[in-house]
Amino acid sequence: AKVTRYAPSPTGFQHIGGVFAALVSERIATQSGGVFYLRIEDTDQKREVEGAIADTIQTMHNFGMDFDEGMTGENSSVGNYGPYRQSEREEIYKTFAKDLVKKGLAYPCFCTPEELEAMREKQMAEKVTPGCYGEYAIYRNLSSEEALAKIEKGDKYILRLKSPGNPENRIYFTDLIKGETSFPENNQDIVIIKADGLPTYHFAHAIDDALMGTTTVIRGEEWLSSLPIHVQLFEVLGFERPEYAHIPNVMKLEGDSKRKLSKRKDPESAVTYYKEEGYPKASVVEYLLNIINSSFEEWRMENPKADYHDYPVALNKMSKSGALFDIIKLNDVSKDVICKMPAHEVYELYTQWAKEYDEEMYELVTSQADLAKAIFAIDKDGPKPRKDYAKWSDVKEKICYFFKPLFNKETIETLELPKNMTLEEAKRIIETYTKAYVYDTTAEEWFEELKTVAIGLGYTADRKAFKKDPTAFKGMVSDVAGVVRAALTHRTNTPDLYTIMHILGEEAVRERFTQFLS
Ligand code: GLU
Repeated sequence: AKVTRYAPSPTGFQHIGGVFAALVSERIATQSGGVFYLRIEDTDQKREVEGAIADTIQTMHNFGMDFDEGMTGENSSVGNYGPYRQSEREEIYKTFAKDLVKKGLAYPCFCTPEELEAMREKQMAEKVTPGCYGEYAIYRNLSSEEALAKIEKGDKYILRLKSPGNPENRIYFTDLIKGETSFPENNQDIVIIKADGLPTYHFAHAIDDALMGTTTVIRGEEWLSSLPIHVQLFEVLGFERPEYAHIPNVMKLEGDSKRKLSKRKDPESAVTYYKEEGYPKASVVEYLLNIINSSFEEWRMENPKADYHDYPVALNKMSKSGALFDIIKLNDVSKDVICKMPAHEVYELYTQWAKEYDEEMYELVTSQADLAKAIFAIDKDGPKPRKDYAKWSDVKEKICYFFKPLFNKETIETLELPKNMTLEEAKRIIETYTKAYVYDTTAEEWFEELKTVAIGLGYTADRKAFKKDPTAFKGMVSDVAGVVRAALTHRTNTPDLYTIMHILGEEAVRERFTQFLS
């Protein structure tokens, strides 16, 4: 069984890449019957945002992920390996740090910014790797008496690892996603405890992952380059090293090249974007699974109704170079998800969304609930099943003509008529059709009636004949249907016309014909 964790910093901004990483971690733990826990990495207190923890928990829950252990709220947690919030673990880190100092594996460093700058200049001049290491590290070999005297004097200090590494040694390492890698051993005296007494990420994560029993660290690939440090830390601390899986960044296509999905440039990088746009949670999860493992798509096709939890996520099948985040693909996946939902669920989710983001639609669909349900159902079960909705914000534009207040906002000038049809001719059609129109008919009777009107006006139902001699007719019956559709919906493309007329009702149909003719 695997123990994995999600370890965000509570900065308040939730990147979709975080959900992506959490989903991988959660699946790997849960699939193996293991534990998935939430640890809060808040040692950089400047960045902390009120409420961010509860928000993270809620977001993950919404995307179908629940933590077995760890933080359960701003000030609460479950599990035997806490505290699960790094700011409450200060004493633990200090205990380990002191122990390293005692063993000669860490030391207080009193470097001032000027000293650091002088070090850097010297290294530049000598053309060697910059940093605090070996003979360049000024306070590395201070005696404990000298160090204590400085501390007593009140000199500011940080704690550094006294790196025992030599870059001439190569370390071989297998990442569960990236595969085999190797790198020179670390010789930098990295900071383990900062001036404020809090640990660095490197130090804290090693201690936490060891003490919390993490078997598999699944995290963003930006940490891959720190592996030499981490491998060394586990060694000097005497901990068994967990497995590592470095998740490639979520990328976006820009022109012909890929770049990281950016918090600043891409609205879709924010988790809130999906809520605002009205993507069902299930769509986002299904989509993320698609980019986690490309074989998910095939699995989904073979198992259209299966719970996604039954799909086995595999780390070694993930793309090594970066999952491509593509809204068009997300929309396709989401249309699939929505069109498989029962109409009542579509209605429920839609009204929930509209209540928050589109008051006008909320009023309309809740005051005409039966109508609204029928509308969604046309696309689902009707004669022309359509996969039209990727997100709830698409709905208004697609069904607004059903609602009088929205329909009246549109103008006849923007109306699109069937090809080559003049407005005069269209009006003549509607005038004739209005007289013939009967509401209470079956779909077949309705079509016969429309056909009769059309043929009477010089249109034909016989495609072959029309093709042979287009000048013999004004057009096809479908052109006449197109005019009726345009008059009633101001659209050229809609679900089944008969069904629409039925839902609208006789009064609205006649009213719209009159409006069209006026
Ligand atoms: N707090 C780190 C981050 O947000 C966590 C990395 C990790 O999962 O170890 O990047």
